[in-house]
Amino acid sequence: MGEYTRGEFLGLGAALAGAFKLDRLSGAGRTLGAQTPQPSTSGLATAEPDLILVNGNVLTSDQTQPRVEAFAVKHGRFVAVGSNADIRHLATRRTQVIDAQRMTVTPGFIDTHCHASGVNELYGVDTNLRTVREIQAAIRGKAASTPPGFWVTGFLFDDTKLDRPLTRKDLDEATTAHPVSVAHRGGHTTFYNSKAFELAGITNQTPDPTDGRFFREQGELNGRVAENARNVFSNVGKHETFTPEQQRDRARKGMAHMSKLFNAAGLTSVHHARATQTEILAYEDCRKHGELTHRVSMMIRSGPAFDALKAANIHTGFGDEWIRIGGVKFIADGSASERTMRMSTPFVGTDDHGILTMTQQELDDAIDDAHSHNFQVGVHANGDVTIDMVLKAYERTLRKWPDPQRRHRIEHCTLVNPDLIRRIAALGVIPTPFWTYVYYHGEKWTAYGDDKVDWMFAHRSFLDAGIRVPGASDYTPGPFEPLMALQSMVTRTDYKGRVWGARQKVSIDEALAIATINGAYASSEEHVKGSITAGKLADFVLLEKDPHAVPASEIIGIKVNRTVVGGTTVYG
Ligand SMILES: [Zn+2]
Repeated sequence: MGEYTRGEFLGLGAALAGAFKLDRLSGAGRTLGAQTPQPSTSGLATAEPDLILVNGNVLTSDQTQPRVEAFAVKHGRFVAVGSNADIRHLATRRTQVIDAQRMTVTPGFIDTHCHASGVNELYGVDTNLRTVREIQAAIRGKAASTPPGFWVTGFLFDDTKLDRPLTRKDLDEATTAHPVSVAHRGGHTTFYNSKAFELAGITNQTPDPTDGRFFREQGELNGRVAENARNVFSNVGKHETFTPEQQRDRARKGMAHMSKLFNAAGLTSVHHARATQTEILAYEDCRKHGELTHRVSMMIRSGPAFDALKAANIHTGFGDEWIRIGGVKFIADGSASERTMRMSTPFVGTDDHGILTMTQQELDDAIDDAHSHNFQVGVHANGDVTIDMVLKAYERTLRKWPDPQRRHRIEHCTLVNPDLIRRIAALGVIPTPFWTYVYYHGEKWTAYGDDKVDWMFAHRSFLDAGIRVPGASDYTPGPFEPLMALQSMVTRTDYKGRVWGARQKVSIDEALAIATINGAYASSEEHVKGSITAGKLADFVLLEKDPHAVPASEIIGIKVNRTVVGGTTVYG
């Protein structure tokens, strides 16, 4: 890369990509907005805008003009960005005008790792409750209307927010006629009742598989099951059945529901991790019905959908600015929030080092295969042992087939150290750390201890190493509200006021870059979104207060006043 640093080189690449885009858009051969005096425009600015926003405290996430007052939108894209006078001048009687009344305006927020299908949110048993009694009541309620032998399934359970540990016997008290599962919001552990164990043929004597665990107390199954040990439950018991049409309808309605929830929180783009065939179709159906109001980049679940895409030569980048193929996702270890990730040192007060779900050989083979089929790869790796393994696999593959722009990812990339960070930077790999975890899951970090938490969700360390790190909720594991994320990353303080890993604090401006332009970079879309820049998609959010102007502990309370995607108001 000659005299350029990696960061400069990538910045230049993005600028050039933007310039080409604008040239094509305008057809007028105008130079890139970023390089012209204010107002920066694309060629389209000469036509009357559909929409202008004026009187804003506009934080653009565009370093060439970080704060402006106003912008204009045409055909769903920003066409001019600048002062009130500049932009008002462009409007005609037909132009819609948003008077921001000095509110803060940011690019739409981007969550780079989410699992929401919305189906549970609409139809499932919510077990995000604070007492065992309430969970029993929720299960009993659902069981009353469910035929015996059919599964009763709870979701969003959170063990550390409960009055006492949930057990198999607690669930037996709710029902013995139905198999019951209560899934942790983290997605890696589930609690089952005795009926479920009986149907699966699991007894106190059953040995643990290498890639999972049946937790026991004094030799007895206590109900908690981790990782792939849960596979034994997948083909037993009966499930409520739906016709293919009903199933498709539920999936579509679920996704439409998520669009609304995301928009209300200020999210305009989400990377859907482990998208299945059902979810791909749900996105398309939603869009057809005009119900898709957030943009999605899908990391396809490894398995049948991924195999079919490979066979069809469809790969990363396929699609458009609403629904596109991002990459493929694999899972190499356990969970941060459920304390099963694989680490070089054990959890506090135990000799438990966590769980691996792939071997080095499996990782090497999977990454070779996905890379050579032109996919961006995202491997879920939380612990330092696993991150090292994933990096070894990326280093090996990229030695064979160098591709500096592929931007393979390490999903979560939770516990790091200086050596891992150096290797991530050298490879151009993108880590996607949790961004609401410090705030929301504070009570869980005692299981790791301060020495580890200093190097967990290490946004500061990644930025310092020149890595364009984004953020991710992993919803359902973490809440997806971006304002909680900003506060969490800026304060490193949990909801009870305890500070975790203060050395990883970032500034508000850095947090905003993480939540916008760096999110776009993680799916190689920084030339079309992530900042309020002429030529980019007009995705933006109005916030009732400026995060710079309130105490950092009150950022979470800032209200989203309006969310706009492609120039259309979708919330507010
Ligand atoms: Zn995930």
